[in-house]
Amino acid sequence: MSLYLDYNASAPIISDVVEIMNNSLEIIGNPSSIHSSGRKARKAIEDSREIIAKTIDCNPKNIIFTSGATEANTLALNCSKEMKTFISSIEHDSVLKQNINANIIPVTLNGIVNLEVLENDLKKTTAEKLFVSIMAVNNETGIIQPLEDISKICKKYNAILHVDAVQAIGRITISMNNLDIDLLTISSHKIGGPKGVGCLAVSDQIYSLLSPIIMGGGQERGFRGGTEAVNQIIGFGAAAEYSQKLKLVNTLNSREALEEKIFSMLPNAVIIGKNSPRVANTSLIAFKNISAESLVIALDIEGYEVSSGSACSSGKISDSHVLKAMHLDESLVKGAIRISLCRSLNKSEILSFCAILKRVINKISNKKKII
Ligand code: PMP
Repeated sequence: MSLYLDYNASAPIISDVVEIMNNSLEIIGNPSSIHSSGRKARKAIEDSREIIAKTIDCNPKNIIFTSGATEANTLALNCSKEMKTFISSIEHDSVLKQNINANIIPVTLNGIVNLEVLENDLKKTTAEKLFVSIMAVNNETGIIQPLEDISKICKKYNAILHVDAVQAIGRITISMNNLDIDLLTISSHKIGGPKGVGCLAVSDQIYSLLSPIIMGGGQERGFRGGTEAVNQIIGFGAAAEYSQKLKLVNTLNSREALEEKIFSMLPNAVIIGKNSPRVANTSLIAFKNISAESLVIALDIEGYEVSSGSACSSGKISDSHVLKAMHLDESLVKGAIRISLCRSLNKSEILSFCAILKRVINKISNKKKII
């Protein structure tokens, strides 16, 4: 049995969610139909919408279901095309690739968006319509962005704020209302729900600026055509409810014990973002002149599933744009592995993992010396 340490790539589906989804397969109606089977499907969708809205503190009518966060980010950034847009340098590619004309806001060496640059850039622009996209938590490092400050700056300059909160839900509290966020993206499979479903939450004032990318029968208030993925949405709603009970924050002790042990056994290890606020389940650790790809494969053979922070969809590992943006030494950029916990680890799991990690690193280093 492998130990799965890659929660941020995709969370294991919660067993109660599987059961709820299995039962939901018996819902036969199309949610747009007005007969009772249709109404049953509609009710199930609206129940999920309500639960998800509660999770992020917004009005249920502000939720647009999508096929996942990539689509939600595309829909959000679609309305930035006519505006002067500012995107942080550490965003997920599903944000970064949407608007190639955007101004890139750098991060500090600690991986936090440079608020001074953001404010200065917004202040000096002469454009009337401004759009800012900054994530809540970075998927590679787990570093939490100061959303309260970011939102204040955006409001001061009347800029629309989009937040990719994919890696924040279930880890930290996000209130769309309190933080005055205009657009917010979440994804079901990062919180123990099924893959292939997510949503974009859109504040009332922003709806009129949004234009759909998938047109059809007017579903989702006309912003996302196509029959809703009823079963996926039911699973998403159930996961949103159960994810509150998973208490990923409780993984902090394990994360700290793990980092301490790794550092004591491998003193050259660099814990990325060690001094920055981070979500409790994520640890990105870099090893000088070691290939993360070799490390991920070797650990997998030993039964530990971690990832490189920068693996793309093909599984290939490219240099991480996040670590480059943090100006991490080049000898470390290629050697960073991400360990993201689903649950607390016991002492023996931590010790075994660290022992294997040390063995594997020594093996890779020795091989390099011989070559
Ligand atoms: N944003 C972030 C921060 C992510 O981590 C991911 C998934 N790696 C996405 C967007 C895309 O999510 P999805 O798989 O739901 O399209």
